[in-house]
Amino acid sequence: MDYYEILGVGKDATKDEIKKAFRQKARQYHPDVNKAADAAEKFKEIGKAYETLSDDNKRQIYDRYGEDGLSNAGFNPNSFDINDIDLSDIFSSFFGGFGGFSSSYERNPDAPVRGEDLRLDIEIDFLEACFGTEKEIKIRHLEPCEACNSTGMQKDAKDTVCPMCNGAGRVQKSTQTLLGSFTSVTTCPNCHGTGKNPKAFCKICNGLGAVEKEKKLTIKIPHGVEHGSKMRVAHEGNAGRNGGRSGDLYVVVHTKQSKEFIRQGFDIFTELIISTPQAVLGDEIKVKTIHGETIAKIPPGVQNDDRVTLKGQGVPYLGSDSQKGNHYITIKVAIPKKLSQSEEKLYRELLLLSKQQEKESLLDRMKSALHK
Ligand SMILES: [Zn+2]
Ligand SMILES: [Zn+2]
Repeated sequence: MDYYEILGVGKDATKDEIKKAFRQKARQYHPDVNKAADAAEKFKEIGKAYETLSDDNKRQIYDRYGEDGLSNAGFNPNSFDINDIDLSDIFSSFFGGFGGFSSSYERNPDAPVRGEDLRLDIEIDFLEACFGTEKEIKIRHLEPCEACNSTGMQKDAKDTVCPMCNGAGRVQKSTQTLLGSFTSVTTCPNCHGTGKNPKAFCKICNGLGAVEKEKKLTIKIPHGVEHGSKMRVAHEGNAGRNGGRSGDLYVVVHTKQSKEFIRQGFDIFTELIISTPQAVLGDEIKVKTIHGETIAKIPPGVQNDDRVTLKGQGVPYLGSDSQKGNHYITIKVAIPKKLSQSEEKLYRELLLLSKQQEKESLLDRMKSALHK
């Protein structure tokens, strides 16, 4: 099904419009609210559509190549996870004022928290971006702490609840002013809002429930990626807390420029200098493409700045195994500055010939004018 139809927006919808449509639909179909049998399925579709359309890079691929394009580009459109979406955000903005409903989504110190997404920038060569590659990368991220089973608390600890706030994470504070006494609620300074006793924190992770680790990963970079392409590696971000899922890792690809080729999208551009006789008579010339050497056919009478197209000799399309861009060669005709004697003789003959032809055609025109 079409992602735009799912969200009920036009193909030219702005990011804000997409977000608004998503919130509206998500509220309508959230399985906690909508008890229809297909609500969960619908909700998942909405999430999938939003996840793609809210990401510029994915949206561009989707617009061009559809769902298949996304999976070819290394994204799994079906990997959408309901937990990816911060529901507290949706529900607080819609149900915030309605007592009962908001309570279950209120910030609870023990509520699962999704881990943070991480970003890694890598640089690849020009041709690697054209044809795809595999890269080994090293990342540092938070992994669940094994010593405490990611609870953040010592296994045998007794006083795990913060004694200052009794686990609420918040304390009341009274302030005396000229107008009377005001009570405000602030985050507990002893436990920083966690409600847990810092004295019982796990010694390995200091209460975080996660530890920083270095990890090596091999990632596949699809052919056709462009400078600035962003790829998601699911679940390789930081570990979540209280059973929340891990964040994702985003790998941002920077591609080096080439000395020989200029790339625009999936097309390649080069220049070719040819001699005047080659321009006049045409020729077959060996040229270099990103795929290797090939013969470019220069047609007779080619003009300076004319383009010769080598069809399908460009970059393989991102997300397609058969389509490729073109290679465009801009012809530059070299006018000789120095001539050998024999060359000069030939050019003089050519000059004479062209002057004679000029005279003849002038005579022809005069004749035909007289006959009218
Ligand atoms: Zn721990
Ligand atoms: Zn506390």
